[in-house]
Amino acid sequence: MPILVNDLYAARKNIAGIAVRTPLVPAWSMSNDERDVRLKLEITQPIGAFKLRGAANALANLSAEQSRKGVVCVSTGNHGRAVAYAAHRLGIPAYICMSKLVPENKVEAIESVGGNVKIGGSSQDEAQQEVNRLVREQGMTEVSPFDHFDVVAGQGTIGIELVEDNPELDTVIVPLSGGGLIAGVALAVKTLVPGVRLIGLSMEKGAAMYESIRKGLPVEVEEHTSLADSLGGGIGLDNRYTFSMVRDLVDDIRTVPELYIAEAMRYLYRHEGWIAEGAGAIGLVPLLYDLDLALGRNIVVVVSGKNIDMDLFARVMGGEVPY
Ligand SMILES: *Cc1c(COP(=O)(O)O)cnc(C)c1O
Repeated sequence: MPILVNDLYAARKNIAGIAVRTPLVPAWSMSNDERDVRLKLEITQPIGAFKLRGAANALANLSAEQSRKGVVCVSTGNHGRAVAYAAHRLGIPAYICMSKLVPENKVEAIESVGGNVKIGGSSQDEAQQEVNRLVREQGMTEVSPFDHFDVVAGQGTIGIELVEDNPELDTVIVPLSGGGLIAGVALAVKTLVPGVRLIGLSMEKGAAMYESIRKGLPVEVEEHTSLADSLGGGIGLDNRYTFSMVRDLVDDIRTVPELYIAEAMRYLYRHEGWIAEGAGAIGLVPLLYDLDLALGRNIVVVVSGKNIDMDLFARVMGGEVPY
């Protein structure tokens, strides 16, 4: 393994005071005599998603020189919020680059946690060119969202907490996109409690890691609009860490339709009282629908984030499957 469990303990020290230790709560409505289901509530992180762990660890590991020059990333979502928030807390300059097509509420979300948004170009690619320019001309450091040693190690701190809070674990269900989250969690859990099963969940439309694992090497997939928008995007054709870690550590990856994601969001809100975005609720799907998975008795679902437009959330709660 390119990353070791000691790196995760080091990350835990680095992120203390920025990211919080999140609660692992019983999900009574899904538990019975045969199974004990608990939810790892990453929705309670300061920015509403686990990505703060990885970003905080990456920023904490910068040299003094790198910290002075600042960091930059392309993101319209949780990674951007995480980098902006952690940088603000650590006093590191940060620019989050986006295209001019990104809706105003996404820009506000970054600014509300202390981030500087830089509008560059009219596509994600052009925003990336702006990042490249800032790296080249101003010596800023790019913080990538998942395929990064410190980011994987930061996300892996979730796994350490899980094992401390529930050493009897059988199965951990984790949302999966670029794989930073599941790679870190799997590394921690499988090292500390051998025999635990790791299951990754992606949306049916545009599941890049799922397709890459099937083909045996990183591949590109077409992007689609999904309720689980935080799970979109590729894994990088030059992937360094997460592809091999997911291949070697994850027991099963399943993809699910939009209807199931919407139902998981509704169930989580109605029966357990938690608001999650589509990516955050997707881990409930194997408990609500039969995906033909052996889950064992002690099951943990990582509820990864809650950042969804409230009008969209209300439509889903009203029974719509928007995409
Ligand atoms: C980024 C993200 C994921 C997926 O994490 P990866 O490390 O890319 O697999 C899942 N849920 C939410 C809410 C996210 O923001």
